[in-house]
Amino acid sequence: MSSRVLVINAGSSSLKYSLIDGISGEAAASGLVERIGEPSGQQVHRGPQGEVRTSLEIATHEDALRAVLNAFSSHGPSFDGVVAIGHRVVHGGSRFGDPVLIDDEMVAAVTELVPLAPLHNPANLEGIRVARRLFPQLPQVAVFDTAFHQTLPPEAYTYAVALDWRDDHGVRRYGFHGTSHAFVSAEAARLLGRSSGEVNLIVLHLGNGCSATAVRGGVSVDTSMGMTPLEGLVMGTRSGDLDPAIHAYLVRELGWSLEDVDHALNHSSGLKGLAGQNDFRELDARRAAGDPHAQLAFDIYCYRIKKYVGAYYATLGTVDAIVFTAGVGQNSAPVRSASLTGLERLGINLDADRNLAGALTISTDDSPVAVLVIPTNEEWQIARETLALLHENKPCLLGVAEGG
Ligand code: ADP
Repeated sequence: MSSRVLVINAGSSSLKYSLIDGISGEAAASGLVERIGEPSGQQVHRGPQGEVRTSLEIATHEDALRAVLNAFSSHGPSFDGVVAIGHRVVHGGSRFGDPVLIDDEMVAAVTELVPLAPLHNPANLEGIRVARRLFPQLPQVAVFDTAFHQTLPPEAYTYAVALDWRDDHGVRRYGFHGTSHAFVSAEAARLLGRSSGEVNLIVLHLGNGCSATAVRGGVSVDTSMGMTPLEGLVMGTRSGDLDPAIHAYLVRELGWSLEDVDHALNHSSGLKGLAGQNDFRELDARRAAGDPHAQLAFDIYCYRIKKYVGAYYATLGTVDAIVFTAGVGQNSAPVRSASLTGLERLGINLDADRNLAGALTISTDDSPVAVLVIPTNEEWQIARETLALLHENKPCLLGVAEGG
């Protein structure tokens, strides 16, 4: 049987896709349709002919997915042999701790979770609806960003507020980036030559969004993002941790609406708020040129990471490795160095040359805690989990997939 999975990540105005082998991780094609609903849509398709860029008007997500299919038939590879579709879904609430096969009941359950992720879940659901219409013969699986963190113990996921906030209204920590944390944790264990169950890790996913996770024996036991992706580390445009009384202060003293505050904290805070820029490369170039705002933004960003490393070290008791991943984590030697310098008494010893060279292991040979740089691969993880679910349900599903 083929192990090819089409992975779909539908955003509000974009649709990313990857045709990937769930076993080997080899991507036969990937791409992106952007500016859905605007007059000037854009498609990028990477396949056997290299990268093909097309400008076209894309009114809806259905048009976007049809454009993806057109790209496959015009530029390859063949779509034959695709056994399933794996969808990234941001919020699975407390209900979904594992990937699920998509059916009407599941769609209804994810629709009920929209208030928890009003920016993301509606777009993910639209991607699911469209894909079910266009590929009725293929099994489809939802993989949730929150699922990996469903193992958090109550003391880590419960906020110190009246318990009915949690029990009646779902106000609790869920955590995000779970697909990435799961992938990178498994890779780290493999690199250390041990099973996932034997290692304790602090995983730092530093992209546009940033999160830290404490992983004990392959299981997430605490994570920095909360009920929403706003909590925790400093991010491209999000503030991360903040005194919750600041909301009331801004409303009372500046006359802002709650929506104004929410928008500012999500879209014009973090690096952008501090230095006017959320692209880390540009920020770092300004810092290197002596710009004090860029330097302060960098310092706050790294200091916050260091605080979480300390906190999660205490949570775990012993740490085998600290793992950096995603755009900034994989590429910025200065961030890795500034975040971990001064932690030598905790057994964290960076090798400056390895760090600058961007090696896989950037700690010294005798460092009690290994420091690793591992590229994340969320698409492969989604394909892998989709395939695994398909195999568990083999009797009914494989017949459908092969018959389609
Ligand atoms: P997303 O969360 O959108 O998937 P990525 O993981 O791609 O984000 O990370 C995007 C961030 O990584 C951007 O801030 C970008 O500037 C930063 N980045 C990418 N390459 C580098 C680099 N070579 N050095 C420093 N930062 C980088």
